[in-house]
Amino acid sequence: MTSVYDDNNIFAKILRREIPCQSVYEDDYVLAFRDIAPKAPVHILVIPKGRYISVADFGAQATADEITAFWRAVAKIANDMELPAGGFRTIANTGLHGGQEVPHFHVHLLGGRALGPMLAQAA
Ligand code: AMP
Repeated sequence: MTSVYDDNNIFAKILRREIPCQSVYEDDYVLAFRDIAPKAPVHILVIPKGRYISVADFGAQATADEITAFWRAVAKIANDMELPAGGFRTIANTGLHGGQEVPHFHVHLLGGRALGPMLAQAA
């Protein structure tokens, strides 16, 4: 994966309102919206508004306010969607081996049914 942020990635276009999304949460730092191809009854993507490529980039470069706002939003959305009672999963795919398709940091928030094992195959 390149280390230069691509302003033409699809989530950057969503943030600029060039592409619509089904928003479920927004504040000064964070936007969250429904995944266009849901893998579970609840499948939300949570993204920072800042230009961060990956969880590693975000963790290393984001401000404390951005990091706090991001994880508070993940927790709030999970609660709003009533996910904690049954359990849920958060995923941040990164780079080639992680299967990351969109190079703007995002966390998948998945729940609403038993999700099975963490990975399809063992090591
Ligand atoms: P990842 O493989 O972790 O980069 O995940 C990218 C996710 O973005 C996939 O689950 C896609 O279904 C989702 N996605 C791609 N385009 C859109 C879009 N326009 N609106 C909502 N979700 C999208």
